[in-house]
Amino acid sequence: MSEEKSIFTRIIEGEIPSFKIFENEYVYSFLDINPASPGHVLVIPKEPAPYLHDLSPESSSELGKVLPRICKSVIEITGATSYNIIQNNGSEAGQTVFHVHFHIIPKYPETTHSFTWKTMKLDNKVALELAQKISDNIE
Ligand code: 5GP
Repeated sequence: MSEEKSIFTRIIEGEIPSFKIFENEYVYSFLDINPASPGHVLVIPKEPAPYLHDLSPESSSELGKVLPRICKSVIEITGATSYNIIQNNGSEAGQTVFHVHFHIIPKYPETTHSFTWKTMKLDNKVALELAQKISDNIE
């Protein structure tokens, strides 16, 4: 893991300006600089964890409390009829800033839904084994 401060830590510390939406002891929120739609907001923990699975229970819980409140404000203020929460972990998943962040991407009546994926068949035997293994491995 890099020891260098992420661009988001520099935003939290005020070194880089941002259009701030919310701040408390654990969470910071601001407008995405390259919005996918009007009202595209980022919600980040102050803890500089690169991936969601690295985040402490304390930061996770505080993020979980704040995220729905910010979503509610975004849809009320923008008039969006729908929204996506997107949270990328790792380059193959499209992550470009290695500091945990949740995207709130408002969708409007004229928006076409473009975030889709190809599906595969779920084999019963494979599924049973996989679900059990993941379940047993949860710390
Ligand atoms: P990712 O692809 O890692 O999930 O998303 C990173 C997001 O951070 C992108 O949507 C990008 O536009 C946004 N971003 C990157 N640098 C800055 C910045 O300096 N300021 C703001 N406000 N957003 C940024």
